[in-house]
Amino acid sequence: MTARKISAHEDRFDTKGVTIAFTAPTPHQPGLVWACADHPDPDVFHPIDEAGLAEAQAFCADCPVRALCLDLGQRRDEYGVWGGVLLENGKPQSGIPRRGRPPKVA
Ligand code: SF4
Repeated sequence: MTARKISAHEDRFDTKGVTIAFTAPTPHQPGLVWACADHPDPDVFHPIDEAGLAEAQAFCADCPVRALCLDLGQRRDEYGVWGGVLLENGKPQSGIPRRGRPPKVA
């Protein structure tokens, strides 16, 4: 079954008489090229250290849908690297969050 897109400007699809509306753009919009769509390792976009974050951000740097991707990630409260920005619950992060108990401060 394929859904038919009924509007070029909204993410609304009509399938078997039922209209499905999305509140955010989807990766299935025709004509868009998501640079990471065929990436062999999707885990790259969920980095666990700063080196992994830099690798993901370098990959996103030349992506043609970078702004759209970031918008999508923020609107969907996503985690991981979207549009070259590390998100946690849709909020941009400055770096990989530290795990565990915070260090004692003298
Ligand atoms: S900007 Fe988004 S779509 Fe483009 S490579 Fe990065 S994660 Fe993938």
